[in-house]
Amino acid sequence: MSERIDCAVIGAGVVGLAVARELALAGREVIILEAEEAIGTHTSSRNSEVIHAGIYYPTNSLKARFCVEGKQLLYAYCRERAIPHRQTGKVIVAADDSELDAVGSYIDKAKENGVDDLRWLSAQELAEMEPVLSCVAGVFSPSTGIIDSHALMLSLQGDAENAGAMVVFKSPVESGCITDDGIELEVGGAEPMSIVCNTVVNSAGLNAPHVARLINGLPADSIPQAYFAKAHYYALSGKSPFNHLVYPVAHTAFLGVHVTLDMGGQARFGPDLAWIDSIDYSFDPAREPLFYEAIRRYYPDLQNGQLQPGYTGIRPKISGPKEAAADFRIDGPADHGVAGLVNLFGIESPGLTSCLAIARHVESLL
Ligand SMILES: Cc1cc2nc3c(=O)[nH]c(=O)nc-3n(C[C@H](O)[C@H](O)[C@H](O)COP(=O)(O)OP(=O)(O)OC[C@H]3O[C@@H](n4cnc5c(N)ncnc54)[C@H](O)[C@@H]3O)c2cc1C
Repeated sequence: MSERIDCAVIGAGVVGLAVARELALAGREVIILEAEEAIGTHTSSRNSEVIHAGIYYPTNSLKARFCVEGKQLLYAYCRERAIPHRQTGKVIVAADDSELDAVGSYIDKAKENGVDDLRWLSAQELAEMEPVLSCVAGVFSPSTGIIDSHALMLSLQGDAENAGAMVVFKSPVESGCITDDGIELEVGGAEPMSIVCNTVVNSAGLNAPHVARLINGLPADSIPQAYFAKAHYYALSGKSPFNHLVYPVAHTAFLGVHVTLDMGGQARFGPDLAWIDSIDYSFDPAREPLFYEAIRRYYPDLQNGQLQPGYTGIRPKISGPKEAAADFRIDGPADHGVAGLVNLFGIESPGLTSCLAIARHVESLL
């Protein structure tokens, strides 16, 4: 006998929790099904923890829209709930003259996305702001910041629970079926159960395409292929010599190895990019020379032995190595024809920044 539940959100990462909160605050009965034994153990705790400004994404893309809207919502939410965060600002630097045009173009690109506060920095201004950097000029993004992502997730979970939602851990969704009566989910784990839901939001991150494939009756051609792109981070030992986040020119799909700061003021470098076939968070020490080389282009004082292996994360991609980077894909009933189902695919960066805007959008689709 299946239990009837109004809404099930699959996945308790930052996006699943934000969606669950939004639905619960709208008065819906919500259960959050999480395979692991805690919130946010995958991508939501293995990222740069940057509140992005919304500079690089194609204009009118979901990434651009939700990043810019999400940034504002997130700063307001952090202030309201005293979630540790800091509007550090970020400098994007041209290491030599050949990168000047690219750096300058970010000012216009950002404007197209509604981010009109970027400003040009001369070599002298940069030398005052970041004395250890070697660069010819740059751009300052004042609205970029950093956040304690775990504190954010705890707050979202608390809000959702206060509004009546329930998070159940060790509850992997193992299969599903579209019926006339709603969407039926078979949940495994220690206490297997079968539930029938009016609404299901698949926010399973790296596993979202796999989970969608488990739902019998969902058209197979509405499910993208999953690709995984691993990222390594190194920590800089000692006190951070940087006052802001520092980004080199984004030559490729990822933004180059850049400097981020955590809430404790520690500097870390990353992410790099390596395509992998399955979810595997092991740290590859062979990346180290590549990090030293990339970082010394803008921070020549980096001494051997100063980089300490940090952690890895995996980008939940839906475009492959040779394809243009895909946008977020948020498929509702109008896209796949199944009433009450929303699939969240490819929620890579800036998903953390965008979580509150994504949640609003998902609620509007249901
Ligand atoms: C290297 C890297 C750096 C990033 N840096 C930034 C940044 O600085 N700023 C920014 O805005 N964004 C950043 N992002 C993006 C951001 O981290 C993600 O968009 C966000 O964390 C995605 O959250 P999520 O809830 O969708 O996924 P996740 O956090 O992965 O959560 C998915 C959850 O679903 C659960 N799950 C999976 N399968 C099942 C199942 N069958 N049943 C039940 N539960 C299941 C998992 O256990 C997991 O808890 C970065 C991402 C990466 C990879």
